[in-house]
Amino acid sequence: TEPVSTTAAPDHEVGTADKSAKALAAEAGRRRTFAVISHPDAGKSTLTEALALHAKMIAEAGAVHGKAGRKSTVSDWMEMEKARGISVSSTALQFNYKSPETDPDEEPNVVNLVDTPGHSDFSEDTYRVLTAVDAAVMLIDAAKGLEPQTLKLFQVCKHRGIPVVTVINKWDRPGRSPLELLDEIQERIGLTPTPLYWPVGIAGDFRGLLRRGEDGAAQEYVRFTRTAGGAKIAPEEILDSAGAAARDGDAWETAVEESELLSASGQDHDQELFIAGQTSPVIFASAMLNFGVRQILDTLVALAPSPGARADVAGTERDVTDPFSAVVFKVQAGMDTAHRDRLAFMRVVSGVFERGMVVTHAQTGKPFATKYAQTVFGRERSTVDSAYPGDVVGLVNATALAPGHTLFTDKKVEFPPIPSFAPEHFSTLRAESAGKYKQFRRAVDQLDSEGVVQILRNDIRGDASPVMAAVGPMQFEVVAARMKAEFNVEARMEGLPYQLARRTDAESATELGRQRGVEVFTRSDGVMLALVSDKWRLQYIQKEHPELTLEPLVATA
Ligand code: GDP
Repeated sequence: TEPVSTTAAPDHEVGTADKSAKALAAEAGRRRTFAVISHPDAGKSTLTEALALHAKMIAEAGAVHGKAGRKSTVSDWMEMEKARGISVSSTALQFNYKSPETDPDEEPNVVNLVDTPGHSDFSEDTYRVLTAVDAAVMLIDAAKGLEPQTLKLFQVCKHRGIPVVTVINKWDRPGRSPLELLDEIQERIGLTPTPLYWPVGIAGDFRGLLRRGEDGAAQEYVRFTRTAGGAKIAPEEILDSAGAAARDGDAWETAVEESELLSASGQDHDQELFIAGQTSPVIFASAMLNFGVRQILDTLVALAPSPGARADVAGTERDVTDPFSAVVFKVQAGMDTAHRDRLAFMRVVSGVFERGMVVTHAQTGKPFATKYAQTVFGRERSTVDSAYPGDVVGLVNATALAPGHTLFTDKKVEFPPIPSFAPEHFSTLRAESAGKYKQFRRAVDQLDSEGVVQILRNDIRGDASPVMAAVGPMQFEVVAARMKAEFNVEARMEGLPYQLARRTDAESATELGRQRGVEVFTRSDGVMLALVSDKWRLQYIQKEHPELTLEPLVATA
């Protein structure tokens, strides 16, 4: 592995960025920050690569005319890409993109693609990432339709009010009928799909896309040509209706008819309803062949919201033009085993972030120096000098920072905490060797504050043996691995036979403690939780003891 430098680049001058409201509004306005979410195997990594490839080619072509300074960003990025290909584990991929549809004299858009973990055990991390984006691209496998993780993620987006662009992927392979796929989205999610690009050719015979106008009428035919292995951008040919009919007669006619059916059932794009989370623009694509990838980027640029104001705990909005503020949405450790470091990722909410700036950590009121700010791209890191609303910055060895925390300058602000998921898996945790108790205790506190798992305690088990609560059991493995790597503590864990957690209180605790299949704990945030073996046991207790407090935890998904 290549050495990764965590030393700061030569000090840059803080305070040189243009902080005028006009400059800030313009920088925020050209940004699009989104995440791709999907059930595993739907093609998230393939699409990420395709988007990056597409952006690179455009950026490369555009760089010649670009202003000085812009080009270096593009070529730095290309250097990284050349060196090791696009990493699928990148935290945030930033690139400039100039849509062929936007005014050639305008600055290019800045696209921030924030990565989400693929495995459902880490859905809480995905949820945290979704608090840091302004839109989501939901990928669906054309042959499989909606899958469990797709449904769950759609609900999270709905709950957060995040507009969703739906991409039906793998259209190059045999799959279901397009209308049937849309029906499934409508019926099972209650979101009205409004296709922008309709497939010409059935799944497995993907020829191109019919572009639907706002009124649903066919505007043009984008015909694709395959390239070897989809390694390059698929050449496009733009045809009008007459040209399309002459070229792909039957397939085109079918697409036109289907598109008319959609209009008849009111499935045309409506920007307000999309932003309100009631409709979702749909694009058919093949990430593997690079078909429809430009259309995804153009849709994000044209329709997805740019970074906007964010409400603080008191409900007051922090505008993008206000002084610097950011929210931490992810803490990642052990990304680089040689350094055993810990990175806290923040999304800039307002103002300009400049490396070297001293910011205030809202939760502790303490100053925090940002000399070591980085963008992280797979295992590669590069130093960030400035960042604007919507951008993602990694802060090195930011031990005090946890997901949901706020950083700011000048004008105090604290954003609402990120609600935690209701845990469904529980395990004991203790140090293999009693002599390591101090390190163990430190490790538990650290991992708890980062939100890796929830830590529960009660007097019977004692401090040396807390209980971990998680959404997925793989989170426990992360705890064990990090304890070993960062704190040199061998952890011993044992799963507990509880399936549910309910919020309770001190008055109910004594009686609950007498019940079979129940154990009462206090979580580190002070909330009392009753762990219950299963839902039948819970129902029984609720029936026998209606006076006891047993409330569902706020479920966010
Ligand atoms: P992820 O788990 O969502 O990141 O999915 P991947 O990007 O790893 O893709 C899963 C599998 O589907 C891989 O074998 C890909 O090559 C394949 N795949 C992804 N996109 C497409 C596509 O558009 N067409 C076809 N035929 N295969 C695809």
